[in-house]
Amino acid sequence: MTDGLKPEDLEPDAKLVEKEFFEWQKRFQAVFNPDREKLVDSLKAQWERASLLHSAEAALSELKIEHNRLLGKKSALSGLKKKIGFVNPTYKSVVGQRVQTLERNIKAAIILAEDRLKHFIAELSTERESIDVTMPGRRPRPGHLHPITLMRERIEDIFVSLGYAVEDDREIETDFYNFDALNIPEGHPARDPQDTFYTTDGFALRSQTSTVQIHAMDRGITMAHLKGTLAEFVHRLFGPETRTRFRPSYFPFTEPSAEVDYSCFNCGGKGCRICKGSGWIELGGSGMVHPNVLRAANVNPEEFTGFAFGLGIDRTCARIYQLDDIRLLFENDVRFLEQFR
Ligand SMILES: [Zn+2]
Repeated sequence: MTDGLKPEDLEPDAKLVEKEFFEWQKRFQAVFNPDREKLVDSLKAQWERASLLHSAEAALSELKIEHNRLLGKKSALSGLKKKIGFVNPTYKSVVGQRVQTLERNIKAAIILAEDRLKHFIAELSTERESIDVTMPGRRPRPGHLHPITLMRERIEDIFVSLGYAVEDDREIETDFYNFDALNIPEGHPARDPQDTFYTTDGFALRSQTSTVQIHAMDRGITMAHLKGTLAEFVHRLFGPETRTRFRPSYFPFTEPSAEVDYSCFNCGGKGCRICKGSGWIELGGSGMVHPNVLRAANVNPEEFTGFAFGLGIDRTCARIYQLDDIRLLFENDVRFLEQFR
């Protein structure tokens, strides 16, 4: 013993440490060998994830035992380290380095294994919470037109097929066209700022569609055209058996003026919940364009005439679809709107 141990004397012990270490690494790879990319890319059944998670958790708790076995007091490494004291001083540093490297490699491999396991377990846990592979995928939802737009297009189609043109016009109108030209004198309640949104002096957001019609006039139009047009309109919108009814009324910009009703599309006139028992439903106001309106637009009332009527598209829409509350059309609730594809 005077010469002390030589490196080759310790080599069997070192080989034993290495052997145990490699064996552990092989076992670890066999138990914990998740093919990460395949796992993410392929839709694995949930039980497969669960079993992977289970084996990873088992490998993690086993890792503590392995740590003791490879680095603990009774480990081959510990035995090897004890023998360094008996090594010939000449070789001490070489042997010391060899043992230190072994120990460092084992420790690093165990720390790395622990990191990988913990990371893998965390990922599997969140995937398990967020992915239910039995659920159908999310399809992008196709959009569709709003029921009021559908209704407006239906109404436009009817009038276009009757030979009318669709006129669209300015949203901001002068005082003159919004009121004066429509035979609504200064001081008339309709000019009240509470009913009209004035933008700047002399301009307002048009408070009625009649402002547009005075920009488009025709010759030889009579009340018969008005009645015929509206009768045909309700035939096409609600069915050929629909009847119309005109009741005298008053509007400043028409003379004569009439309220238009149509026979209830639901009960045919017998009376029901939709027509509130009367058998009739109000369509809107109508009449022949007042001569004063024509004069205000520099149109000769002896030569040109016109008729006017207005109906609430939203109101008509609500009736046709039998909505209990017209506000449903403006709340933008997708669950409601989706029913009108
Ligand atoms: Zn009815």
